[in-house]
Amino acid sequence: MSDNAKLSKEKRFRVVFDRKNCIGAAACAAVAPEFWEMKEDGKADLIGHKVDEQGNQVLILAEHQMTPTMKKALELNKEAAEVCPVQVIHIYDDETGEKLI
Ligand code: SF4
Repeated sequence: MSDNAKLSKEKRFRVVFDRKNCIGAAACAAVAPEFWEMKEDGKADLIGHKVDEQGNQVLILAEHQMTPTMKKALELNKEAAEVCPVQVIHIYDDETGEKLI
């Protein structure tokens, strides 16, 4: 089996951050500093992100990355999304597109 076939079967989640509407409350960085850091312009950055066509910061969380330290990746980002006062953090099932938060 090729690596591609293996990867496509893997469970993946997509964290999407609408940075332009971030108000810099820093709640995300307080609960999940492994993934969120505050920048000099007062807004948060999703660590390791790529930028999509809409200008959102996007990070894919893949199952194979969920080593003991990464195991909580999804939980931590869900928590960040929950505590964000302006709800600019969203998480999707990358396969089905289902919105988890
Ligand atoms: S909690 Fe929300 S508004 Fe506050 S810094 Fe994080 S993303 Fe921005």
